[in-house]
Amino acid sequence: MNHDQARFGDDDRYEPLLSETGTATVDVGSESPLPDELTRDELELPTSSEPELSRHYTRLSQMNWSVETGPYPLGSCTMKYNPSFTEDVAADPNAAVHPERSDETIQGSLELLAGLQDYLARIGGMDAVTLQPPAGAAGEFTGITIAKAYHESRDDDDRSEVIVPASAHGTNFATAAMAGYDVVELPSGEDGRVDLDALEAAVSERTAALMLTNPNTVGLFERDIEEIAEVVHDAGGLLYYDGANLNALLGRARPGDMGFDVMHYNVHKTFATPHGGGGPGAGPVGVREELAEFLPRPRVRERNGEYELYDPERSIGKVHGYQGNWLVLVKAYAYIARLGDSGLEDASAKAVLNANYLAEQLEYDIPYGPFHHEFAATAGDRDAADVAKRMLDYGVHPPTTKWPEFVPEAMLTEPTEAENKASLDDLAAAFNAAIADSDEELAAAPSKTTARRIDQATAARNPRLSWHALDDTE
Ligand SMILES: *Cc1c(COP(=O)(O)O)cnc(C)c1O
Repeated sequence: MNHDQARFGDDDRYEPLLSETGTATVDVGSESPLPDELTRDELELPTSSEPELSRHYTRLSQMNWSVETGPYPLGSCTMKYNPSFTEDVAADPNAAVHPERSDETIQGSLELLAGLQDYLARIGGMDAVTLQPPAGAAGEFTGITIAKAYHESRDDDDRSEVIVPASAHGTNFATAAMAGYDVVELPSGEDGRVDLDALEAAVSERTAALMLTNPNTVGLFERDIEEIAEVVHDAGGLLYYDGANLNALLGRARPGDMGFDVMHYNVHKTFATPHGGGGPGAGPVGVREELAEFLPRPRVRERNGEYELYDPERSIGKVHGYQGNWLVLVKAYAYIARLGDSGLEDASAKAVLNANYLAEQLEYDIPYGPFHHEFAATAGDRDAADVAKRMLDYGVHPPTTKWPEFVPEAMLTEPTEAENKASLDDLAAAFNAAIADSDEELAAAPSKTTARRIDQATAARNPRLSWHALDDTE
């Protein structure tokens, strides 16, 4: 066992780093125009042959879960399969444009950006869209900052509160706080939805916005959305739509028609571009006409048949370099263009059907419904995290666990439209086998994975992403 293997448990499979399997000292030459203190005489570099390299990375990829190898039913995260034609489009050498090029020389790229803005505006029922924010959370922050700029532009600057339902994604609370607002948490009603009486008690002349997810994070549609919008608007507040996951609504219902004023989209959830460890995302923001002048700069527009960038006068500024994560936007555009209206409608239909079919097969209690694209099963008197670890032994990726908190031992499950019946049946079998196992078996799980139980909190809060970082902090 070598130095690094000591960090792993005895039963864990270890893949040595390339620098451990073969390192050669390379003479980098002595002639350099750089000052002496910036140069070195030798450098230790790994010397692996192509087959060694290829096998190393293939082995590493096999230690991980991915949507390429099986369903990934993380509720709220929408880990749908990313079709490879979108990668082909993004890999086209013509897609790689330097962001400093002048508008006249990148007309095609600007047209694509304008086209994607247009698609998203139509899907969300919004009037104007920015593609700049690089993630859902960044989109939320952009949207709430726009809401703030709007209130301030009307000298309505005593609004100090943003209302967030208890069931909301954690980023909503963080967004409101980072934008300088006091967060007013709205408890979930008995049916898991917004309680109108509680909302009426919470709104006031201090309300800047209500942030809402619909269907909410356990897949329930807020049937009172029109009344909710009225309550918030009557108090002078704006309605923010968390559209990270539009899988239930695509082609069927639009936040703009429900009364929302500003929203974000996660193209890396709904529009099949990779996310998580798979790549950077994009969190475009859509707004109603009255808010368009505050969108981040620069914006793209078409004038006399030419596309150009311009700075809206009252823009909140920039939230990312250039136009955002360009190649992610290319993939989202390709996905929407290829599916078209009927394809998007089909996606939402299958996403909802798949969630409901899977739920039917489960021997779990599902306290709230009717649900749409995702549902929260409960592990009851078992520990949801243990059950999830056990599911790994049955060869499937488990759902999101222990969230939202108002569902005890929640297993928030979202199969997405990408799974067929056989794959849903496999998932159901794993769910049902895991919950039937003994406490001892659950506590010992997973036993068939590369690594056993890891310290998840430390891995998330103190990630060491390079070999050197591991070494330094030893
Ligand atoms: C994923 C998600 C977000 C945040 O998106 P990121 O891209 O991860 O920042 C916000 N709200 C909901 C409901 C989500 O599922």
